[in-house]
Amino acid sequence: MDIQTATEKLTEFERKMYAYAAAQSALYWDASTFAPEKSAEGRGIAMGILSGESHKLMTGPEIKEVLDTIEQAGDAVDRLTALRAAEAARQYRRLTCIPQQEVIEFAELKARSMTAWETAKANNDYKTFAPYLQKLVEFSGRFARYIDPEKKPYDTLIDGFERGATAAELQGFFDAIKPPLVELIQMVAKSPKAGAYKQLQDRINARSFDTQKQRAACREIAEGIGLDFSRFNMAESEHPFTTGPNTNDVRFTVHYHQRNPASAVFAALHEGGHAAYMLGIGDELMYTFLNDGASSAMHEGQALLYENHLGRSRQYSRHLLGILKRHFPGELSDVTEQDFYQYINISGPSLIRTEADELTYCLHIIIRFEIEQMLFEGDADIDGLPRIWNDKYTKYLGITPPDDAQGILQDMHWADGLFGYFPSYALGNAFAAQLYAAMEKQTGAGAHIAKGDLGPAADWLRDRVHRYGMTKTAREIIRDATGEEFSPDYYIAYLKHKYEELYG
Ligand SMILES: [Zn+2]
Repeated sequence: MDIQTATEKLTEFERKMYAYAAAQSALYWDASTFAPEKSAEGRGIAMGILSGESHKLMTGPEIKEVLDTIEQAGDAVDRLTALRAAEAARQYRRLTCIPQQEVIEFAELKARSMTAWETAKANNDYKTFAPYLQKLVEFSGRFARYIDPEKKPYDTLIDGFERGATAAELQGFFDAIKPPLVELIQMVAKSPKAGAYKQLQDRINARSFDTQKQRAACREIAEGIGLDFSRFNMAESEHPFTTGPNTNDVRFTVHYHQRNPASAVFAALHEGGHAAYMLGIGDELMYTFLNDGASSAMHEGQALLYENHLGRSRQYSRHLLGILKRHFPGELSDVTEQDFYQYINISGPSLIRTEADELTYCLHIIIRFEIEQMLFEGDADIDGLPRIWNDKYTKYLGITPPDDAQGILQDMHWADGLFGYFPSYALGNAFAAQLYAAMEKQTGAGAHIAKGDLGPAADWLRDRVHRYGMTKTAREIIRDATGEEFSPDYYIAYLKHKYEELYG
């Protein structure tokens, strides 16, 4: 095959893969937002066929020849084509190096494990889930060795979400943030101000906030952060998420709680960060394999930057309160700017990761990372994991889960065979802090944000982060955008500054 043909075929091949992904994304969106209850079976059949066909296409003999031709061409192909082919090759390798029979067995095991996990969680009975966890770890470890026999299995699993990252690197990151985080959390727990903040929170959440008005406020927020409604739309679902097959078609969902308006508002900002990233990817990457975020952590980092660094900042919170007061003049009439800032930044240790605040969140991740490491280093006693889990919660967060449903059984990730994903959530926080600090230094965006103008911040992020899609790694983006290597120092400084001022 000549280079010209190979390049054309790569484009054709990417478009076909795009078509499958677009159809699956639309079905998923439909299922989560509008589809009637009994539509599940028919959709399941369609989803199964689509994923089977895309898998066949992605692992077929023709793609191999195309990718080999482009790889061997070296400098004869342009950089973008080489990068597209390299990403396709990475996916091809991950999909084809595992024997087909084991892929099927793993899919079946995951389906059974999810059911077992649901039952175990409902009955607070870890013992019935433990044998499944054991098997899931064995399968994942074996798959990792198929993908790269030279690497430690846990490193390969992490690399699946965070290209190039290793457990040792993440260990260094967590070692740097753990002591200051634990110290800050202890300071917050002992703070005499904590009681008053809690009363304030209870006082606001005791009021009723009409969900129709919340919807209008969230739309205004989405417009305010610059999401272009000719290419973007929003709806409602049980759990917020963002999806979109291409840069002209991005959507997110939120969920409205009558007693807690902050929940939908910050979900809109979080998903808005994901959406801004997807909308900002360069046009030249449309319908290619590179039309995605640089890594899971960089994607999460954009969401957290909008949710926390912008959304929960003093500057933006003033503007945000203004929007909310227009929609809820009576409900919020007695809430001052200072009250509101405290209300949206309340911190305290909790048992459940998904309900954790900005300060305590990373400790939930550190606990999962440490346990995953034990699982893949082979020195974990599966039956003894609940005790290890509980001991870590006691030691790091100062609270002990009363049962396994609120402890080790709370997340679905492991039951779904997802190992190595959790660290991305924490790393995203640190990426966001370093990017925000550089943006502020280079553009003084904070002063504009105080006036409700997010333009300079959004432009900087699009120019330095979003437009590159997957053509740069997360580390390269950090280095090029900030002029420095990745460092957790910005994240620690940000948290110290914020929480010492709030609770000190
Ligand atoms: Zn997210």
